[in-house]
Amino acid sequence: MIGIFGGTFDPVHNGHLHVAQQVLDRLVLDQVHFLPCAIPVHRGVPRASAVDRTRMIELALEGREQFKLNTLELKRDGKSHMVDTLREIRAGYPGQTICLILGADAFNQLKGWKSPKEILQLAHLVVCQRPDVELDRAIFSDHWVEFPAMPGESIEGCILPLAIDENPCSSTRVRNMLEAQESEVQCLHPAVFEYIQDHHLYH
Ligand code: ATP
Repeated sequence: MIGIFGGTFDPVHNGHLHVAQQVLDRLVLDQVHFLPCAIPVHRGVPRASAVDRTRMIELALEGREQFKLNTLELKRDGKSHMVDTLREIRAGYPGQTICLILGADAFNQLKGWKSPKEILQLAHLVVCQRPDVELDRAIFSDHWVEFPAMPGESIEGCILPLAIDENPCSSTRVRNMLEAQESEVQCLHPAVFEYIQDHHLYH
């Protein structure tokens, strides 16, 4: 059973690592793939290049065997639609359970994504709480299950809200702290912070 954790990761922060670890542990996943997008569809162009975002993910994941970098979207280039990505991943993992991991803010936008119904035919959705975000339970309400009901028999099609300890980190907050040249930037893995300093990112 694999988890797919897509995002801009501009930059990757401790909130991402926390979410991935919680889902890995609670659902007993084999792996979580961190999947940086090339060009996000619903937001501006990332501040850091794909190379820098990738390198920061690699640094943050070092030594964590069950976390993998997945560069599918970067290799495909252009706008990154999750449904296209999941089709490719599904083809590589026939018959296996795939869990798409989302924060509540991302999940609430699901209906604006390309082919949301097909996304649910390709994976389960695991939705993690995020501070100050109320989960929209009206979205595909007939697909919701409560932990630990999922997954078991079906390999896709369920929406599972997962109550995790909330984590206040966000890339926006990190970028703001870096722009303000704060000497101590919370939410960053030390190696990622060092990389950002060395490469003069987000200033
Ligand atoms: P930004 O502040 O630039 O919007 P972000 O912190 O939301 O960035 P993304 O890379 O856009 O980071 O997020 C990737 C995924 O991780 C999304 O599904 C998002 O909801 C989720 N996520 C990020 N941070 C958290 C957090 N602290 N708690 C729960 N989910 C999170």
